[in-house]
Amino acid sequence: MDLQNPWFVIAIFGALVSYHAELIAEFLNLSRLPKRSAAEDGNENLIEYNSAIAKADVVRSSAMLALLLAFWFVGGFGWLDQWTRSLGYSPLITGVILIAALTLAQNLVSLPFDVYHTFGIEAKFGFNRTTPGTFIGDRMKSLVIGGIVGLPIISLILWMFEKLPQAALYSWITLTVFSIFLSWLAPRFIMPLFLKFEPLPPGALRERILSLAQKLAFPVAEVSVVDGSRRSTKANAFFAGFGKNKRIALFDTLIQTHNEDEIAAVLAHEIGHFKKKHVIQQMVFGFLQMGVILGLLHYALRSPQLFSAFGVRQMSVGMGLVLFMMVVGPLLSLIEIVQLMISRRFEYQADAYAAEAMGSSQPLVTALGKLSHDHLSHPSPHPFYVWLHHSHPPLSQRLAALISKA
Ligand SMILES: [Zn+2]
Repeated sequence: MDLQNPWFVIAIFGALVSYHAELIAEFLNLSRLPKRSAAEDGNENLIEYNSAIAKADVVRSSAMLALLLAFWFVGGFGWLDQWTRSLGYSPLITGVILIAALTLAQNLVSLPFDVYHTFGIEAKFGFNRTTPGTFIGDRMKSLVIGGIVGLPIISLILWMFEKLPQAALYSWITLTVFSIFLSWLAPRFIMPLFLKFEPLPPGALRERILSLAQKLAFPVAEVSVVDGSRRSTKANAFFAGFGKNKRIALFDTLIQTHNEDEIAAVLAHEIGHFKKKHVIQQMVFGFLQMGVILGLLHYALRSPQLFSAFGVRQMSVGMGLVLFMMVVGPLLSLIEIVQLMISRRFEYQADAYAAEAMGSSQPLVTALGKLSHDHLSHPSPHPFYVWLHHSHPPLSQRLAALISKA
């Protein structure tokens, strides 16, 4: 415990403050669930589902914080540093091994919580369709892809910070180019490893979608159906791609539960995000954030106090990156709160766009109502919880905004 060390103070208080903010938010949110005594049809399930999720979240974040503090205060970081150095590789490889080992460990620690979420809670409320085989397959695929895609880029970043005085600038450019490449790669080669994409068969729905896209001057290269039902009953739709190559993917579960008008309204909302330039603005925001983080990393790596705050004796780029991420966590949470605020504003704008495109707010109102009902969403989440976590405004506020414009 070294309260003279600014890195130590920021890391420990950051972890404690965000943990307690999380607890308070969960508690406030639970207190706003409808009362059990007043429960109407279906409300029982909603109350139980939201309570179960909140309890699991509290247990998970408590366990994670306890584990982190235990590891930290028994000297885990110093030990890990010694162990990876003792393997005798170059500083670069040592750094990569360190980061890979920590990522694997984090994956293992979160595994029981993820298993409980999917096979405990989601299964109990009838959402889960994932088999244990699919679940294990998904985890393995994620790890392998993470390794293939992540390790080279991490090696490159570590190498830059070891060799180049202006590493922050070069790694910023590298990561920006890389993330654009990844958003091209993901829908084509990564997502198909998890979901089956099939062209939406010709018919009324396909006609409807294409004519909507044409009317809104939105170039669509492909409309597919995705077998979301293999994992969950929860419905969704998403877009991918740039320029003239936009791909629309509808979850089969969305098609099963929504009529043509409602699906068109959901798509019009998504098209609204493109037309209002939300997607590009969010990417630019992400790049700026990355620049700030890398600039701070530049200074952190030169500070011996960063290492001593975590009981690590020798400085290295790999360990420095890991420790810096621990310190910068609270700052990232603050940035995320701003991002969520912007995102909620964008949702209202996309809703308004969809209502105008459809000539009526009605189809979107019923579509959103169905999604919220089918997902057992909290009907009136607490503003503090919304502020911390929600990228979308609460349903009641979205509906109020839609209806007031109608
Ligand atoms: Zn949206």
